[in-house]
Amino acid sequence: MTIKRYLDDRALNGVVEVTAVIPGDRPIVRCNETWFHAQGGGQKADRGTLAAIPVLDVRHAPDGAVDHIVAVSDGLEVGGRYAFAVDEEWRVLNSKFHTAAHLLVSVCESMFPSVSVIAGHQWPGEARVDFVGEAVEEIIERSDQLEQVIRDEIRRDLPVTFVGDPYVSRACQIGGYAPIACSGTHALSTGELGQFRIRSAKLKRGQLRLGYEITAA
Ligand SMILES: [Zn+2]
Repeated sequence: MTIKRYLDDRALNGVVEVTAVIPGDRPIVRCNETWFHAQGGGQKADRGTLAAIPVLDVRHAPDGAVDHIVAVSDGLEVGGRYAFAVDEEWRVLNSKFHTAAHLLVSVCESMFPSVSVIAGHQWPGEARVDFVGEAVEEIIERSDQLEQVIRDEIRRDLPVTFVGDPYVSRACQIGGYAPIACSGTHALSTGELGQFRIRSAKLKRGQLRLGYEITAA
């Protein structure tokens, strides 16, 4: 079990205690707690360093632990305490793409109450959200309007806040929109998202896939 400190702490530097080292082609290090976001919920993993060793990927292990896949595990010892640094530029970029998905879902479900989100994928360059519901064709017809409302909400610089217990029932809320259960990382407000654009709108077997893009503010 690893305490996922990124759920309630935005720190990108600190010290962690190593609880397991698993050598191999992709060496794994586990810690008592972590500030590295593990890949999941449609969002990429954080990158960075642990004891100055590159952290290449971060994954959820089945037993509640978080696996830090490191370039090399030589020199890392169980019980040792090491400095870590989360790559800030990468964290900020992924947080913006992830927060933009929240805003897209919030605005879309508000404008078209009969639709609901079923999946999301917020990787920079290929970000998208999938919707189902009666109004999916109407969304395509009115995608310019949807895009404009999202841009307006970015301009209003709505705060991104959290409700619930950060480790048990965390939900992310944009402005006054309905909270969405989430364990990702986020921008502080929509003003950070920059220029939003709907990149594509495709309907397949009744399911609408909206691709989106943001460019840094
Ligand atoms: Zn989120």
